[in-house]
Amino acid sequence: MGRIRILPDNVANKIAAGEVVERPASVVKELLENSLDAGATRVRIDVEAGGKRRIQVVDDGCGMGRDDAMLAFERHATSKLRSAEDLLSISTLGFRGEALPTIGAVSRLLLETHSPEEREGTRVEINGGKLIAVDDAGLPSGTSITVNDLFYNTPARRKFLRAESTELSHISSLVTHYALAYPDKSFQLRTATGDLVNVSPAASLRDRVFQLLGQETLDEIIEFGPLVKNLELPAHATPPGEAPERPEIRFRGFLSRPQIQKLNRNSIYLFVNRRMVRDRVLLHAIQEAYRNLMPGHCFPVALLFLEMPHTEVDVNVHPSKVEVRFRHQTLVHDLVRDTLREALIAARPLPAFPEPAANATGAMESGGRNTIHTTTPSAALTLTSPTVQPATERFPFHAASPLSGEGAPTMRELTDALYSPGQFTVTAASEIAAAVVPSATVTENPDQPMDLRELRPLGQVRDSFIVASSASGLWLIDQHAAHERVLYEKFVFDRDQGAVESQRMLMPYILRLTPAQMSLWSTTLSEMERSGFEAEPFGQNTIAVKAVPASVRSDDVEKLLRELIETFERESRGYTDETARQRIAASVACHSAIKINTPLEPRKMEWLIAALSATRFPMSCAHGRPTVLRYGMKEILKAFHRI
Ligand code: ADP
Ligand code: MG
Repeated sequence: MGRIRILPDNVANKIAAGEVVERPASVVKELLENSLDAGATRVRIDVEAGGKRRIQVVDDGCGMGRDDAMLAFERHATSKLRSAEDLLSISTLGFRGEALPTIGAVSRLLLETHSPEEREGTRVEINGGKLIAVDDAGLPSGTSITVNDLFYNTPARRKFLRAESTELSHISSLVTHYALAYPDKSFQLRTATGDLVNVSPAASLRDRVFQLLGQETLDEIIEFGPLVKNLELPAHATPPGEAPERPEIRFRGFLSRPQIQKLNRNSIYLFVNRRMVRDRVLLHAIQEAYRNLMPGHCFPVALLFLEMPHTEVDVNVHPSKVEVRFRHQTLVHDLVRDTLREALIAARPLPAFPEPAANATGAMESGGRNTIHTTTPSAALTLTSPTVQPATERFPFHAASPLSGEGAPTMRELTDALYSPGQFTVTAASEIAAAVVPSATVTENPDQPMDLRELRPLGQVRDSFIVASSASGLWLIDQHAAHERVLYEKFVFDRDQGAVESQRMLMPYILRLTPAQMSLWSTTLSEMERSGFEAEPFGQNTIAVKAVPASVRSDDVEKLLRELIETFERESRGYTDETARQRIAASVACHSAIKINTPLEPRKMEWLIAALSATRFPMSCAHGRPTVLRYGMKEILKAFHRI
């Protein structure tokens, strides 16, 4: 008895309608998904002329019997779905029963398949949707589908196809995605000029990433997970008397260090239940995780694999099945954002200097590859600090203030620490660090001596960059960026506590705005007030600013206000309170922080380094630029030809 059934109308009608075959890559996607659903362990894809002339997908999966081989070309014929309820919990990649008939309608298709349950295999030939021949044939078990002359009978569609190389790059991205999602299987993508993908079963996800993306990418990324988290549904979502539902989400993947910045999203690979997806909720969550670690227009390298109950994700949203809808969209978003951010915090990756020889070419190449590297990827880069800061919500200096003796230092004090000489007793760096990092978490690893707390400042370059040394090498610290990071974290903390200290201006600051800016101002007003600003309308299109956060330097008030308004204007379409909060904090930190071209005494440099090391994200400033660069001992020894 065959497995395939034609879906009854009431089920078929519930399936997202629309065309699945737009281009060669969509054919490859459907065929590849069918092979994976058929339990294949090896899939080979041959492509000619970017898939326009020929696509063949061969698998060693369960194959089809003769009846199924013919039924498969009927619309809504599938072995993967029976009832409308099944649609709520789809565990296979396919479920629509539409791919084969659709592909068969726009090509010359040959299906060769053999199920081990039958003595012989079957060969089915279809031309432009017409059944040409069905024959028995001696075939190996598994399935081969050859799609020749795609869109030969729909010239309008054929005209829309891009250059062969473009179509091929879509196909190869697709095969790469599925090969990442199924590391235990073999994938081969062959073209006339050679294999674009050829991977045998990998022992781990990491090995599969290495096979497909190479050591260079592996050097850029940090592995995280597997982690199990729960979606905490609000109490009102639970019927009275029942235990609250806590759907489990499993996370694993890879994230790049923040200084690896791509100009597009092509290096973000998203999977939900091993299905490749393009999803705005997840993309946004990733960007949020990197907020203030990376400039807003840049993207990380990220491979994110989520597993969740099938009932939590609706894949029946769009015919191509790459879009999904989460049942608890906001909860998923926030959980992903927080989990990734924690993973980044735990890794505390720090930038390093480029290798001396690679410097010039590295910079040139990176333009061509759409990549900005503030570092050259190299095996010499050390990823993590052995000291992982606990992800405490408290600003570290609250633990025991080395600055003001009792209680926590204020934002103002953290600002003045660098400006006004001798106002505070500056404790040795090591003591500050000891006060903020529980000693149990401090483990030294001679191979990864990345701990900022060991740094000894030696002096400044141009009164702007602190030069420091440690056993691990030579360091440069951007004093403004470093101070900005410290103040940013403190400000966010204060703001969340409702404890931003503000200063009244002697004279209100009068700001003329355009009508558009004026309405933006009123949108952001409550967020501005929570952040220590006080302003009132003052005639038409004019506001009087009466108070600003206490740490902001008086010469910077105007710049700060202008900058904020411009930022809000630029980002008005995506405005949320959350982004406003971040932007305000970043600007306040920037306009409170020590400037470059400011001489610093040794103990202040020491203080700044210690303060930086106590932050959650010491490696970049609030705008995502690096705070420190390291010239590792190994590179130094190499450069002097000592190793
Ligand atoms: P769907 O995948 O949505 O069920 P398709 O049109 O892609 O619809 O395929 C129809 C049916 O043909 C599948 O349900 C499956 O039973 C069968 N089939 C397709 N490709 C293969 C394959 N490579 N190996 C085994 N069975 C297959
Ligand atoms: Mg299918």
